[in-house]
Amino acid sequence: MKNLIPLAVMVDDIADALSRVIGNGIAELHEPVFEGNEIRYLKQCIDTGYVSSVGNFVNQFECELANFTGASHAVALVNGTAALHLALKILGVEHGDEVLIPALSFVATANAVSHCGAQPIFIDSEPTTFGIDAVKLKLFLEANTNNRDGQCINKNTGKKIKGIIAMHVFGNPCDVDSLAVLARDFNIFLLEDAAEGVGSFLNGVHVGLKGAMGILSFNGNKTITTGGGGAIITNNSELAARAKHLSTTAKVPHPWEFCHDQVAFNYRMPNLNAAVGCAQLEELPKILKLKRVLHEKYRESFKSVDGVNLIGEPLNTIGNHWLNILRLDEKFIDYRDLILDGLNNRGYRVRPVWRLLSSLEPYKHCERVDLQVARGLEKSLINIPSGAGLLKR
Ligand SMILES: *Cc1c(COP(=O)(O)O)cnc(C)c1O
Repeated sequence: MKNLIPLAVMVDDIADALSRVIGNGIAELHEPVFEGNEIRYLKQCIDTGYVSSVGNFVNQFECELANFTGASHAVALVNGTAALHLALKILGVEHGDEVLIPALSFVATANAVSHCGAQPIFIDSEPTTFGIDAVKLKLFLEANTNNRDGQCINKNTGKKIKGIIAMHVFGNPCDVDSLAVLARDFNIFLLEDAAEGVGSFLNGVHVGLKGAMGILSFNGNKTITTGGGGAIITNNSELAARAKHLSTTAKVPHPWEFCHDQVAFNYRMPNLNAAVGCAQLEELPKILKLKRVLHEKYRESFKSVDGVNLIGEPLNTIGNHWLNILRLDEKFIDYRDLILDGLNNRGYRVRPVWRLLSSLEPYKHCERVDLQVARGLEKSLINIPSGAGLLKR
């Protein structure tokens, strides 16, 4: 009984802090905001008949996305998962290979590896950015791999480790500089899963550009949306050309002939989705500003709440505040689910962080390092409503 009182107070305190910023009533975790040219551009698609894999909005979206991120190239794709799959294929991941990924991520990161017939190896999180811990990864690579003919070989399995996927958790940039050094030293690739990071910068560079390639997502719950959608961004023109070719059935350009020179994918973003994307990109600076204001208001409001901390941006980064994160103090961890229940019952669609990928049925058997930090985060992180439209309620 002793603990029921602090729990009730805890739920009330968090609900009050949320209410001070976003008011009462149902608040979804992340809703899109359509206040620009979305309908106008969609109508143009329908009026001209260009709704599918050919059309000006796809090219325009790629151009403007490259401009915004500072990437030399952007390739628009059907979704972020397809973007990851395609990037892994292009970076040479084959059946029987292994790829180092964070245990704390959305399931798509692991699924993309599986789609290549490869297996993930799960790495622990770094305690401040929540991304892959480069120090622990280095220790793993030093102790468990050999370099054989320029290939990084896992001594435990005899398989080739082809690369690292870094993920920027909830839009907060992780330490890709250290990971890029590791990738170089161990002769493996670095791919950035920046699905959550549109509009996030590390030392002034947009996330996704430190590795060989980066991927973004424009799913309905992400910072900006194309309905469903994703992209590869890269500064390497050869990789970009391959991404474009392989995402468009490897069709050799010709006015009327069907010639395809490889087994490839139909992963290109349709023009309809790109039309929405062009409008959303125009709105992106405004959306980022609103999300920053929301984050700052939350910070002010949660200052007085005992037992939780609002997580801020890591050092030298500008985050997009895709999802705001509360971390429960140790003493409240056992009550996490009751806190989630209490807040959801009041209409606040708060969510726990993902279950560690290493504990999911399809990935239980995969190799992993000690995941102590990730396990702590799994138990203590809660996402609170974060859409840019919440301030106007
Ligand atoms: C959203 C997300 C993806 C996948 O994006 P989709 O567009 O939904 O396929 C991949 N990785 C992470 C970390 C994500 O959050």
